[in-house]
Amino acid sequence: MEIRLLGTGAADGIPTFYGDDEISRYARRYGGKDVRTRSSALLDGHIKIDLPPDSVHQLQRDKLRAADWTALIFTHGHDDHFARREIQYTLFPFTEQLFMPYIIYGNDRISAALPEAFPDWPIEVRQTFSFQSFNHLDYTITPIQARHKEDEDSQNLIFQREGKTFLYATDTGVWKQETFGFLQDYRLDLLVIECTDGLRKSTYEGHLDVEACAGVVEALRESKVLHDKSRVVTTHHSAKGLARHSDLERELGKYRIEPGFDGMVLRI
Ligand SMILES: [Zn+2]
Ligand SMILES: [Zn+2]
Repeated sequence: MEIRLLGTGAADGIPTFYGDDEISRYARRYGGKDVRTRSSALLDGHIKIDLPPDSVHQLQRDKLRAADWTALIFTHGHDDHFARREIQYTLFPFTEQLFMPYIIYGNDRISAALPEAFPDWPIEVRQTFSFQSFNHLDYTITPIQARHKEDEDSQNLIFQREGKTFLYATDTGVWKQETFGFLQDYRLDLLVIECTDGLRKSTYEGHLDVEACAGVVEALRESKVLHDKSRVVTTHHSAKGLARHSDLERELGKYRIEPGFDGMVLRI
């Protein structure tokens, strides 16, 4: 599998939309890996995970096109992942297509919100449920329950194909026991996990800082869900995390975790 991180920023990106904090100023000045668009990933060039408001820019930047997608899978309904109005550009009159060329998968919130947003358009969602696997082409996809937006079934996603397993875990705090327990049957070759809060301590339980992220990774290593050769890469970084990319390399490196960056390509 090839996983491309299209965006690795939290809700307002880095540099932030309106902010003039130190991390945003540094990113504006030096660019490179410190510039982060809203979080999204692309699996094997055709399975798109989340649709942030930066989607057109991400495709333009990486010379990609949405015409190659076979699926668009949502993790949850927050605005930085679910820019629903962008979906309209798939169809006539913006293209010649009268029907959706890719399948949309999403939880309770997504599958209710899309038909509401487009009542007269042929847009359907196949509803996904935590801990219930489904197949898309020759991939087995299993949502697991994230600890995040509690008024919907917020999900992290396991992808399996040809003996390889990848878990995309954006937007979650430390999982509840049910999720940890469910994961015990899996052996992950790649974990992409959020680290929104970076070096800042937060009381919000729906995200991870460096220490909490490392704690989750250690627990997965102890129980052999992560093996010796598994790669662990972060995403969903906020400027409020008070960390530049080089700070994250240093701090996460202590735990053999790599900070992700926009455009990063991972192969397993
Ligand atoms: Zn988010
Ligand atoms: Zn969120």
